[in-house]
Amino acid sequence: MAIQKENGSVSIDAQNMMPVIKRWLYSDKDIFLREVVSNACDAITKYRMLHPDTEEEMRVTVTVDKEQKLIRISDTGIGMTGDEVRKYINQVAFSGASEFLKQFEDDKTGGKADIIGHFGLGFYSVFMASEKVEIETRSCQEGAEPVHWVSEDGMGYELDAGKREDHGTDILLHISEEEKEFLDLYRVREVLKRYCGFMAYPIFLEDANAKPVEKDVPVGDEKNEDGTPKTEKILEMPKPEQINDTDPLWLRKPADCKDEDYKDFYHRVFMDFEDPLFWIHLNVDYPFNLKGILFFPKLKNDFGTHEGEIKLFAGQVFVADNIREVIPEFLMLLKGVIDCPDLPLNVSRSFLQNDGYVKKISSHITKKVADKLNALMNTERETYEGYWDDIAPFVKYGCIKDSKFYDQVKGSLLMRKTDGKYVTIAEYKAANFDKTEKKIYYTNDEKRQAASVNLYTSRGIDVVVMNTLIDGNFMSFLEYEGKEEDRVTFARVDADIDGLKEESEEGKELDAEKLQSLFRGALGKEDLEVKLESLGDAELIAMVTEDEQMRRYKEMSRIYGERFPLPDRFTLVLNRRNETVQALAEKDPEAENTKMLCQQVYDLARMAAQPLEAEEITAFLSRSGRLLNQLVKG
Ligand code: ADP
Ligand code: MG
Repeated sequence: MAIQKENGSVSIDAQNMMPVIKRWLYSDKDIFLREVVSNACDAITKYRMLHPDTEEEMRVTVTVDKEQKLIRISDTGIGMTGDEVRKYINQVAFSGASEFLKQFEDDKTGGKADIIGHFGLGFYSVFMASEKVEIETRSCQEGAEPVHWVSEDGMGYELDAGKREDHGTDILLHISEEEKEFLDLYRVREVLKRYCGFMAYPIFLEDANAKPVEKDVPVGDEKNEDGTPKTEKILEMPKPEQINDTDPLWLRKPADCKDEDYKDFYHRVFMDFEDPLFWIHLNVDYPFNLKGILFFPKLKNDFGTHEGEIKLFAGQVFVADNIREVIPEFLMLLKGVIDCPDLPLNVSRSFLQNDGYVKKISSHITKKVADKLNALMNTERETYEGYWDDIAPFVKYGCIKDSKFYDQVKGSLLMRKTDGKYVTIAEYKAANFDKTEKKIYYTNDEKRQAASVNLYTSRGIDVVVMNTLIDGNFMSFLEYEGKEEDRVTFARVDADIDGLKEESEEGKELDAEKLQSLFRGALGKEDLEVKLESLGDAELIAMVTEDEQMRRYKEMSRIYGERFPLPDRFTLVLNRRNETVQALAEKDPEAENTKMLCQQVYDLARMAAQPLEAEEITAFLSRSGRLLNQLVKG
């Protein structure tokens, strides 16, 4: 029975709906392409379910016709009868949209803009970019008549007999003047690559206005005089370009994937020329369906701005990047793809945040990451150590953010020692705690703090390097958070010398008290503490130490704006083995030279720790001048 022409209104709600959809979806309007192309793929899946043995070629073709201001999305799928168009397009599509609108009204959290990109609004999203939409479709059912549907605003429609000859559907989008960017082939390619790059059937992009291009083809076996094959020029239409990879790596069995496959995939998808360090292939069927690959990238030099990229898919359809609800925040530093076909994505963000299912996914991913790190640590320690510097910021960040993750990986946290070797906290404790005050000694600047480092290492006490941005926070975390029995205390090598229990008496027996009052007098600092110690290098006159907590407090207040800058409180540690120190102990405290010497020693010791203030430098320079003068005369 031929279709009679009919006119109608899609739904009562439509009058209120379209303006809302158009307005709210403004920011992410490119999703309309995802919606129509994924519908086309769905239609092919349905057709194949009905005809499992078909040999027909299944594909989706997107044709951009800039001249006609038209995008055509054509599929070889199941098609629709007139009744199905009435049912699925005129009614159902809109009930989906009114759900959406309700959701919107309920969502008072202000997360409006966020929902949008994650929302499968469906067919009606095409009206965001079109001033007129046509459907040319023919159902694969025996004897089905082709149908033509047209609507100018998504509110009223006209249905009549169509012209399509094969089963399948063409969606014709007459792109509106304001959205004409979507008539640009590059723009369409970009959007398709982004959202449809891994859909399950081949998607081709065609330029309806393409001109034939010249091409050289060989003329039989004929040769030129110089022996090269003879060619002639012919005109050829450019071939349509396939946009997608229909067989994404993450859906394959891990056992079937080679290292090269992972690397190629990584380069291609994340545009990173470097190889990833390692990866985790997630492949879960139960209790939920989750597939994906997480890559651990090599850190770039500027890791301060290091940012990952986790692409979320729902059944091979790209949803969005970096959705915090599904992927634990600290994993955002990684790169990867996650595919959750059952994820209820057409719901608001606040729903995702409270959804138990989503939480399970997130903690499953966390656990897999922890398992991988522990496995590397336990079976390939050397390789793992090779990765450590690159993955440390992310692992440490993860520990701080997620105490469960910390519990899972705490045995696999490494620290690099100044000798280049790596130790766990437990190993450090076992090797050093009987020799010290049960602290982990660290340096954040090996060169500047070399003398202090040496103080420890020369006594066989290990010093670890903590010099990345996150280390300060990470150390406080290990000191105060987590379980009581796991806590450890850190002290920078120049914090104090109290940890050096077996005091080295090497050097001359000197009168510590006398030296202290000498320096106090010369510097005018009555509360200055002066200690004597045998520093490794006899040429080194002195160094300063500063209480760990005091220094950290100072650093904090500097970060937070220095409203009440704290004075430095250094302890001066004199080297018993140094001749100047030994001579000073004999000097007349009242002599001008003695004072100058003391001031110079103190400045030198401080300069090794941190830069002097402007006036201090001026004083230091003029004093140095005077000392040189004396030497010259001397
Ligand atoms: P959803 O895809 O979530 O079902 P849509 O609004 O995207 O919602 O589409 C509504 C319905 O229209 C689909 O379920 C399908 O029945 C029908 N449909 C849309 N596009 C096509 C197509 N290309 N071929 C066949 N049916 C289609
Ligand atoms: Mg759809």
